[in-house]
Amino acid sequence: MPFALSDHHRIKREEFRQFADLEMDTGDHFPRDNLQKAAQRGYYGLPIPKEYGGQGEDFLTYILFVEEISRICASTGVIMAVHTSVGTFPLLYFGTEQQKTRYIPGLAGGEFLGAFALTEAGAGSDAAALSTTAVAVDGGYLLNGCKLFITSGGEADVYTVFATADRSLGRKGISAFLVEKGMAGLTAGNPEKKMGLNRSHTTELRMEDLFIPASNRLGEEGTGFTIAMSLLDGGRIGIAAQGLGLAQASLDYTIAHFKDLEAKGYKAEQSTCFILADLAARLEAARLLVYRAAALKEMGISCLKEASMAKMFVTDLAVSAASRCIDLCGRPAAASDNPLTRYLCDAKATQIYEGSNQVQRILIAREILK
Ligand SMILES: Cc1cc2nc3c(=O)[nH]c(=O)nc-3n(C[C@H](O)[C@H](O)[C@H](O)COP(=O)(O)OP(=O)(O)OC[C@H]3O[C@@H](n4cnc5c(N)ncnc54)[C@H](O)[C@@H]3O)c2cc1C
Repeated sequence: MPFALSDHHRIKREEFRQFADLEMDTGDHFPRDNLQKAAQRGYYGLPIPKEYGGQGEDFLTYILFVEEISRICASTGVIMAVHTSVGTFPLLYFGTEQQKTRYIPGLAGGEFLGAFALTEAGAGSDAAALSTTAVAVDGGYLLNGCKLFITSGGEADVYTVFATADRSLGRKGISAFLVEKGMAGLTAGNPEKKMGLNRSHTTELRMEDLFIPASNRLGEEGTGFTIAMSLLDGGRIGIAAQGLGLAQASLDYTIAHFKDLEAKGYKAEQSTCFILADLAARLEAARLLVYRAAALKEMGISCLKEASMAKMFVTDLAVSAASRCIDLCGRPAAASDNPLTRYLCDAKATQIYEGSNQVQRILIAREILK
């Protein structure tokens, strides 16, 4: 396995870096402009085959994109990661040809935003406990239930929603459905007030007698849980890339802060230099974990353990890097509008979604103790 990025990946990284640095904003509203610019450049469909309107890039290229944009705006990062890894891939992997041609060109071209609705009040880490029901009726299904904390809720155009025909069947009762914005019976709540990632709208998604035609069931009946779990490897590598961007942002800010002080005649303490060196080394190690997991996924090699390790290690690092950098910068970093505070709050959320880091530890332990 090569330990350096290929020329192609380096060129793409530079392109994404310039896009992030020069074109993205960091305001406090839903990042519509960032998304529109990403759509115009074809970034909605980076790892989607050209035959469906995507760019036909590999998974690592998409990971580099999420990393670079998350450095500037982690909210845009999570919206794009959810859109791609768990919003578009389900169709690509499990859709019928008719479903693919109906939805993927719009998702890849930036006309549609994709989202993923699994979590409920009683079903977070234990996703199989979900209680949203899908009752078979003439020509399709009626969905009833309420999803929580759905990224891009109310903003997305296509949701992959998970519901059960019979709770007594456990995970075997769960099916996946393609739900479109505007369908009668679908309502999104107001964006949650979160501690971080506030530009990314996270909402309740309520379904009341929502009719889904049979042609919008994704995969066979009863395969929804398998579909959801099979997507999470890619999803976790995407969130790990978001963590890389956030950790890099904390380090960049702090290095610039000390360079600025040095220009004014202050020399950083050796203890400060040691902390910065440690963070830089851990970040490089983290990058190797993420890129390796991405390479394995691209090769079609099982990467459950590697994806969990990357997600857990990097998102924990993103939190500790922001926290350590706030310590180092001191008083200026305590201001609520200081970027380091935003990085810390944004990073905290990355430890929770796509499987909390406690759940990642359970999965890793299960693999190594097999
Ligand atoms: C910003 C944000 C965006 C999100 N976006 C989406 C989305 O787009 N779609 C979606 O479906 N969901 C989304 N979620 C929900 C997310 O996936 C869940 O929050 C996550 O799966 C954890 O579930 P929970 O919050 O219900 O916590 P719980 O499952 O209730 O867990 C609570 C705590 O207990 C720990 N825990 C749970 N089980 C165990 C165990 N067996 N052993 C040890 N510890 C355990 C957890 O690690 C956690 O610390 C999002 C969440 C956030 C914060």
